[in-house]
Amino acid sequence: MMPSPETLDRLAAVTGEKHVIRSEADMQPYLHEWRELWVGHSPMVLRPGSTEEVSKILSICHETRTAVVPQSGNTGLVGGQIPFGEEIVLSLDRMTRIRNVDARDNSITVDAGVILKNIQDAAEAADRFFPLSLASEGSCRIGGNLSTNAGGLGVIAYGNTRELCLGLEVVLADGRIWNGLKRLRKDNTGYDMKNLFIGAEGTLGIITGAVMKLFPRPTDRATGFVALPSPAAAVELLLLAQARSGGRVAAIEILPRNGFAFTLKHFAIRDPFAGAAPWYILLELSGSGDLSALLTDLLAEAAEKGLVIDATIAQSEAQREDIWRIREAIVDVQKREGGSIKHDVSVPVSAIPDLITRGTKAILDYMPEARPMPFGHIGDGNLHFNVSQPVGMDKQAFLDSWEEMGERLYAVVLELGGSISAEHGIGRLKRDKMKKIKSPVELQMMQQLKALFDPLGILNPHKVLPE
Ligand code: FAD
Repeated sequence: MMPSPETLDRLAAVTGEKHVIRSEADMQPYLHEWRELWVGHSPMVLRPGSTEEVSKILSICHETRTAVVPQSGNTGLVGGQIPFGEEIVLSLDRMTRIRNVDARDNSITVDAGVILKNIQDAAEAADRFFPLSLASEGSCRIGGNLSTNAGGLGVIAYGNTRELCLGLEVVLADGRIWNGLKRLRKDNTGYDMKNLFIGAEGTLGIITGAVMKLFPRPTDRATGFVALPSPAAAVELLLLAQARSGGRVAAIEILPRNGFAFTLKHFAIRDPFAGAAPWYILLELSGSGDLSALLTDLLAEAAEKGLVIDATIAQSEAQREDIWRIREAIVDVQKREGGSIKHDVSVPVSAIPDLITRGTKAILDYMPEARPMPFGHIGDGNLHFNVSQPVGMDKQAFLDSWEEMGERLYAVVLELGGSISAEHGIGRLKRDKMKKIKSPVELQMMQQLKALFDPLGILNPHKVLPE
């Protein structure tokens, strides 16, 4: 139901008109998402400055049945943060206070709108480490990270966002505030409510604050870029690295040759190797000890076993940054090669080689000139199985095949016991696939939870749950 002008005025009075956006033109940054898959529409963007204001807004929304889309950094990749007409946007972008850093408890308490990079920096200022790291970290905000249970680069060592959270503050659909901002490492007192809101993509409540875990800063780090014959060799190298480093693998990212070739073509990046290899990985160890020596030894052992074609190890921070730039560039270069169809999938780590072989075949059987480019977090069994358009094909005609191509790849993923959304969530993009991937019992439990937390269906409607 479209909110009445009176309702909009009541909502605006909570934040003050200064923090309300009513004109369609000024709302644009909140309505466009990163991939331009959707352009949203909304009667109003509200930018509250405190948990109390969020609570007042929600109680008015509940009373008037006004739908709300929570938005943090607007970097989500499944359309979850975009309103589709009647919903107001509740932006957390003014709630940016770091409430407390407690180095002795290794915790940080923040408003939900704090930018991820600012949490990393605040941890560092207290001589601590906050390991959540995504390419979008300069824009995404912790409320969005929690609501999507974001993954990223450090999952193999530290877990997903869920594993990094100790406590939450949440405003419920009717405006009640749940203060669960505990700093406890152990708390077995019944149901773990915070874990319901983490990964719920704003459909069960609005996260307004969080207590996140901090860690000791690693005392050493070693980063290598490695050329390999195959994905199977990459999995073997991962196992070897884990065994030899005593669990100090902090990141392991795989890139296919075509992705690296795109990067070399579009960016001023130098190929460290004399010849081309079919696959590459970025491997980083982090923790204590002489990690460069350890990485050198383990790569030598891997080479003896035939797992490695060539390798280079960063000798300085500048060289480390160069290696990371190769990994980070792959996100941008896809845009420069025309249309790109994205699939964020996971399988058990041991099934990665099968996923790459069978997934590539499924895509090429469907569209022989397409350019599959599976890359990403191999240590988590998570690939961004993206596909660049055939050279010369009309971009829109290619993008129109997203659904059908996805069906073919997802069939392989499901046969391998995997997930069609590893870290980006369901949002609007994959909502209609939920009936296929969830059992009737699981869907029923989800729907019952939704009805319990949001009986009027005002929180992020048309997202996550199939309609
Ligand atoms: P938004 O996009 O604003 O919102 C995301 C979802 O959370 C929406 O459903 C929204 O309604 C809901 N939401 C937002 N704030 C709240 C709140 N306070 N309470 C309740 N619900 C809320 N993701 C990864 O997991 N790993 C990656 O490696 C990764 N890399 C990326 C790289 C790039 C270049 C880009 C553009 C995105 C990447 N992402 C990645 C996706 C995205 O950055 C993450 O999903 C991130 O966690 C979203 O945070 P946000 O603040 O932008 O949330």
